[in-house]
Amino acid sequence: MDDKVLSIKNLIERKGYKFTKQKRVILEELIKSNTHLNSKQIYDKVKDRKIGLATVYRTLSLFSEIGIVKEINIDGVSYYELKMYSKKPLHIHFQCVKCNSIIDIDDNNLNLQYLKICREIENKNNVDIYDIDIMLVGICDKCKKAYC
Ligand SMILES: [Zn+2]
Ligand SMILES: [Zn+2]
Repeated sequence: MDDKVLSIKNLIERKGYKFTKQKRVILEELIKSNTHLNSKQIYDKVKDRKIGLATVYRTLSLFSEIGIVKEINIDGVSYYELKMYSKKPLHIHFQCVKCNSIIDIDDNNLNLQYLKICREIENKNNVDIYDIDIMLVGICDKCKKAYC
């Protein structure tokens, strides 16, 4: 078993849940994909292995509750990306209104600035920030070019 899978398995079991074959298959797809997927897209990847859509929904909501995945809501649809072991845990999202693609804006310099802003907000308001969830909406590079 992969290191990531193994430690996530341990986490799931520590939280009192069984690490079923279905959970493992869904988890491996999330690790492999390295992008944002909605329940239907994940279901399409696992349905050949006899996993139903309801199981996909249940598993994703559990993963999100435990903090294994991050859930992003766009126009009422939830998208999921791996949060644990992500190479870019801190990033903002850009959504294109034309093609609906979601782009990760991940820039080291920007990330440092977020961290600074977070520290400032924490200090001024006496809160602890666990996560940043920013969604920018506009037109992506590809669509801009298509309209020129
Ligand atoms: Zn676009
Ligand atoms: Zn992302």
